[in-house]
Amino acid sequence: MPLTSRQTSLNYDEDVLSIIIEKADHCFDKADAFFGNKFKRSSCNLKQRGRAAGTAHLQKNELRFNHFMYQQSPAEFLNTVVPHEVAHIIVFQIYGNTVKPHGKEWQAVMLKVYGIRPNRTHTFDVPPQKQAFEYHCSCQKHQFTKQRHTRAQRGVEYICKGCRSTLQFISKDN
Ligand SMILES: [Zn+2]
Ligand SMILES: [Zn+2]
Repeated sequence: MPLTSRQTSLNYDEDVLSIIIEKADHCFDKADAFFGNKFKRSSCNLKQRGRAAGTAHLQKNELRFNHFMYQQSPAEFLNTVVPHEVAHIIVFQIYGNTVKPHGKEWQAVMLKVYGIRPNRTHTFDVPPQKQAFEYHCSCQKHQFTKQRHTRAQRGVEYICKGCRSTLQFISKDN
């Protein structure tokens, strides 16, 4: 039986996450061996959105990775972004909040533990900004998608559920 696209994408997400977790574990193992320590493993997820390839949430011991960027180049993502974020966790577990995020301690982990040139920034494409169109009623502002905006410009009337007035387009030239 063919899978629906939804099932396919769900399964794919799980595969991506397990590959990332495996890589993160490997990075932790390397740090354990280098420092003769047993670092606490972080939970990993694919919740990262926007311009960042990944973020390390130090207090929660959580790593968020950007699926959109992973897809562009999985190998590069695994070899740069995952160690970059794990290195933040390592530094935090050694030094706490006393050092700079991309300071010499983090750079040393990147270089000596992972053999990677410490780069603060990634080279992945950032997701396109969704084009939004602003409308207003008598009580608030509303964001319209391009499709809804087109329909409104063709004469479809949208009514605010709050104040029952017709939504008006706020022209960008104002
Ligand atoms: Zn960083
Ligand atoms: Zn309203």
